[in-house]
Order: sequence, then C-alpha cells, then structure tokens
Amino acid sequence: MDTSNPRIRASVRALRPYVPGEQPRRPDIVKLNTNENAYPPTPAIRHVLDTLRVEDLRLYPEPDCDRLRNEIAVLTGYGCRPENLFVANGSDEALRLCIDAFCEPDGSVGYVEPSYSLYPVLADIRGVACRPVDMWPADPGATSLEWRVPEGYAASVFFLTNPNAPTGCLFDKALVRSFCETFPGVVVIDEAYAEFAGETCLELALSLPNVLVCRTLSKAHSLAGLRLGWLTGPAELIEALHAIKDSYNVDRIAQEVALAALADGDWMRANAARIRATRERLSDALRTRGWRVFRSATNFVWASPPAPLRAPDVFAGLRERGVFVRHWSAPRLVDFLRITVGTDEQIDRLLATLP
Ligand code: PMP
Repeated sequence: MDTSNPRIRASVRALRPYVPGEQPRRPDIVKLNTNENAYPPTPAIRHVLDTLRVEDLRLYPEPDCDRLRNEIAVLTGYGCRPENLFVANGSDEALRLCIDAFCEPDGSVGYVEPSYSLYPVLADIRGVACRPVDMWPADPGATSLEWRVPEGYAASVFFLTNPNAPTGCLFDKALVRSFCETFPGVVVIDEAYAEFAGETCLELALSLPNVLVCRTLSKAHSLAGLRLGWLTGPAELIEALHAIKDSYNVDRIAQEVALAALADGDWMRANAARIRATRERLSDALRTRGWRVFRSATNFVWASPPAPLRAPDVFAGLRERGVFVRHWSAPRLVDFLRITVGTDEQIDRLLATLP
C-alpha cells in the first residue's frame, strides 16, 4: 500500500490487518495450519453443481437467503424461525456486521484473551476500543482456560469463542449462561467449531434477548472455500443485521450448495466423528512425548513441546520438511503450536516428522 497517499486516512494507514494462515500451492504439503476439514464435503454437492443452470447466473440471488433460512430453522430446533436467522458470506462477515450493528462509535468490543485474532482487527477497522478479558490459566501446567470475567465488566459487543480458538477449550454452559444473563451488551457466541464439541449454546440465543450464536459451513461441513456462515438469535437483533448488510451478500451458487450440505447432516457428523477420534489419538501421542496439550473440543490441538525443544524451532523444522502448522509469536502463545487435526495419514506423517 502507498502509505504516502494523502487520500488514505491516517487511521487506515495504521491498521494491522488480520494475517490468515499460509495457503501453499504445492499438493505434497501436509497442511495442518488453518483448521480446514481434511475430508471432502458431501458428494451431494457434485449433483448441485452439475445441474446448476448457467443462465440463472444472470439473475441476482435471493437477497435474504429465504430457503436457506427455512432449512436452517428446521435443523436448529429450539423453536427457531427464519426471523431468528441471518446468513452471511462466511462467519467473518457476520462478525464484522455485529460490530457495525451493535457497537456505538464510542463503544467497545470485548473478547476472550486469547481467542480469534480477527476481533481486535475488526474493532480497529471501526475505530472502537477493545476490552479483552484475560482467561489465560495462572497455573503454568494447566491445560484449559480459566473463566474469570471481572465484576461489573461491560462492552457493547462481546465475542465469546466457544469452543475457544486457538486453545480448543470448551467453556462450561452454566458459566456462559450466567455471563449472558448479566452482561449489558450483545454477546456473540462464536461456535465455528461446535460440531466437534457436540455441545451448543443455541438455546441461549433463542431464549435470551442479547445473545447471538455464529455458525459456519467452513469447518465440520468441509466448505471453507464456499464462504457461508450464519447467526441465530432474537428477531430484533437479526432485523438490525438485515438492515445494514449488502443487498446480495450470499451468491446463488453458495446458497444452492449450502442447502445440499445442510441436508446431508449424516455426512458432516461422520466427518466430525473421524476428526474427534484422530484428535484424541494425536493428543495422547503428544502427551506421551511429554508435550503440554490442552483438552480440545475442536478440530485442532493446542500444544507446547517439552524443553529443550522450542515451539518456534519445531514450527520451522516441520515447515522445512513439508508439514505446515500454526505458530504465533505473541508472548503467551509463543511456546505453543496449533495443529489442525487432519486425516490419520497426515497425523502419522506429522508424528514421524516431529523431533
Ligand atoms: N470464528 C473462528 C473462531 C474461527 O477460527 C474462524 C476461522 N478462521 C472463523 C470464525 C471464520 O470462519 P468463516 O470461514 O466462516 O469465515
């Protein structure tokens, strides 16, 4: 970017963009760095793409994804209706729109620290303050986050990543409920990985006035390339999101493919079960080698190697040998690697490549 151009706002020039995981082009790389699903999406999608009428692409898509919202409402249960649903171009878009809709210009964005590094980036883009809540465990050997929201804590919007990323921890539902019941702003429970946990807070979104749950097809449904996510919650909050979105924010192809993917819940559940089994095998194998491994409820494992090994060196060594995992250099994260749970063959290769 030309940072000397006076037309670019100083605040935009100073932004630090979200840095996604590397997307290598070489097919021989074992790619365990961006929490994609190692297994293919339902084959029913092939039929959708084969029967798609190219001439229909002349026409705009359904602006509010009506058929998709009907389908998701039925699958959600808990009395969910289409008015309780907002569909977005990936859950990242949904998260951004939550700040636009629910955060005043002098408001603030809260989130668990550590969690998804996109939230502070979105807050910076809107020029609003960040109010992270530190949940890193005090015990140096602990393998889960500590729930500790300070008394009287407030923010306009709070992103609660549950299960958490990058640690994989699942928060206790009773704690989440009591937090939501007393929090003065909007709580967005980001459930990108919920299908791997087998637990959801959807009932909170459909019973409390200030709670939204964010879901995605990117992880358990193996459709990160499609870009489709959605929010579930009170009709009044959902209406506010519809008022500010792009008219046609989800394209025609994505809407059709999403319908086919959601209709094949068995396929998704079988994929998630395979990943869960491999996750436990990977976690046990690392523990046996002396790693500190957080208890994961997701499709990734957060783990720290034993001394004298150092996470940055392990990361670099794996990378050199064609195995990509994720590493951050922030002070608390620097000793850990986030390893996406791939196929059994990929995890065997990872284990064989580790020092
Ligand atoms: N929330 C969390 C916690 C994530 O890790 C991710 C994936 N990076 C997302 C949301 C974004 O998912 P999507 O592909 O639906 O934009």
